[in-house]
Amino acid sequence: MNERIWQAFRVFFPDARAIGSHVGGSLLAGQGEDVVLRNAATAEETLRYADAGADVARAAVEAARRGQREWAALSHAQRGRVIHAVGQQIRAQAEPLAQLEALTSGKPIRDCRGEVLRVAEMFEYYAGWADKLYGDVIPVPSGHLNYTRREPIGVVLQITPWNAPVFTAGWQIAPAIATGNGVVLKPSELTPFSSLALASIVVQAGVPAGLINVLAGYGQTTVPAALETADVGKVVFVGSVPTGARIAALAAGHLVPCVLELGGKSANIVFEDADLDRACLGAQAAIFSGAGQSCVSGSRLLVQRSVHDKLVEKLVNGARRLRVGDPLDADTEVGPICNERQFTHVRNCIAAALREGAKLALGGAEAGAAGYFVPPTVLTGVTNGMEVAQNEIFGPVVAVIPFDTEQEAIDIANDSRFGLAGAVWTRDVGRAHRVAAQVQAGTFWVNGYKTINVASPFGGYRQSGYGRSSGLDALKEYTQVKSVWVETAAEPAAPFGYL
Ligand code: NAD
Repeated sequence: MNERIWQAFRVFFPDARAIGSHVGGSLLAGQGEDVVLRNAATAEETLRYADAGADVARAAVEAARRGQREWAALSHAQRGRVIHAVGQQIRAQAEPLAQLEALTSGKPIRDCRGEVLRVAEMFEYYAGWADKLYGDVIPVPSGHLNYTRREPIGVVLQITPWNAPVFTAGWQIAPAIATGNGVVLKPSELTPFSSLALASIVVQAGVPAGLINVLAGYGQTTVPAALETADVGKVVFVGSVPTGARIAALAAGHLVPCVLELGGKSANIVFEDADLDRACLGAQAAIFSGAGQSCVSGSRLLVQRSVHDKLVEKLVNGARRLRVGDPLDADTEVGPICNERQFTHVRNCIAAALREGAKLALGGAEAGAAGYFVPPTVLTGVTNGMEVAQNEIFGPVVAVIPFDTEQEAIDIANDSRFGLAGAVWTRDVGRAHRVAAQVQAGTFWVNGYKTINVASPFGGYRQSGYGRSSGLDALKEYTQVKSVWVETAAEPAAPFGYL
């Protein structure tokens, strides 16, 4: 066991003897086979822990069911105060939480610090909603008072990926508990630590011990067991398209609805009239921050032909200056790929792109000295029909695609099975709005990239998923509506025949 990780973990679990799942407020040792973890910056083994397994998953659902009842007994305002306290606790423990995240995910510490503060904001934002979500009174054509209630679903199962572990955990836990639900969270088996730490912070802030449960381990062993309990009312999945489809099919077998937040292949469109310096910085941030391991990354850079060469030159020069290195170094801008499987995938994608005819303007798939590092990579000579333009790489690899007209740019952007995000860079206001209206994507930026906020809805079109997270939309996803009919007529009509 890596001593540094262990110490960072024990800040949140001083009595811990091993890594386990957070169930009913305690750490429960797993029962399955070992999950082996490696340091992304060195490829050395750091630790192993036992997969939670089916019994622990079932215990987590039971704990969430009990915790939810306790939580629902509090008034909405009381729940809001506790959720606000969670945000404050996160701020108080922001640095150790960010350190734990950087140590165990390979994400640069500067990104982790920012993401932890975003998580505090998520709890603070949803704390305010806890007593402000209510139903309607509906003017029905009879003597009834008819009103609606927004009620919790009960227990929700949340499944999250490895690219932004604490961010995605807070993103889904905060609206779930603000609407009165209990949670079983299954983070990636590769990065469970910050989600476990968040669960401990939530309990410290005064949330019932069983309300938030975190399963450390594989999805294959835990998710089917959790669904078989019949106590899970909804699944919220954040991850890849193939796994999302598999989980949606499994949940459908139990008639459990899903929200799916999946992958993307977003088009970042630069017109010749754009401020090219800003567009270039935006394009760099869009694909190289987080080493491209971001669902909304601008992995297709569509550039008007007249400025193509100029923009590529600026992009290559800018990307060359990015500081790639140790995630724990405060100056590092681009860290390693999180894990070996993904590292191999990214390098295979680059090699396949070159075989398809793409040209390497920067970077490449050559192995470095150690660790899972892939340098910022710029591919030119790409057409949208190539695999490199159609498949999600989820690494620091941008495919530059030239276009001539506005309509061509829109058509290329929409020639994708994904529809998560996109952007346009132009000084023409009318064009900006025309393009924003026509690109099929759940999030779209004009003269910017990657800005998101917990107050604004987020989700995918097409195979990027369905349902919405963030904002009021997330609260609706985490509630169900009940219609209540109260007879008020002195002489009621016969109660038959309405349906
Ligand atoms: P993944 O689909 O491999 O895994 C996601 C989660 O599903 C993990 O917790 C994993 O343990 C679990 N899982 C995997 N196989 C399972 C199975 N058979 N049964 C049950 N659970 C299973 O995704 P990943 O590689 O961890 O993450 C990268 C993907 O996530 C990318 O496609 C990225 O675009 C996507 N992503 C989407 C968003 C969004 O908001 N749309 C955000 C972040 C990441």
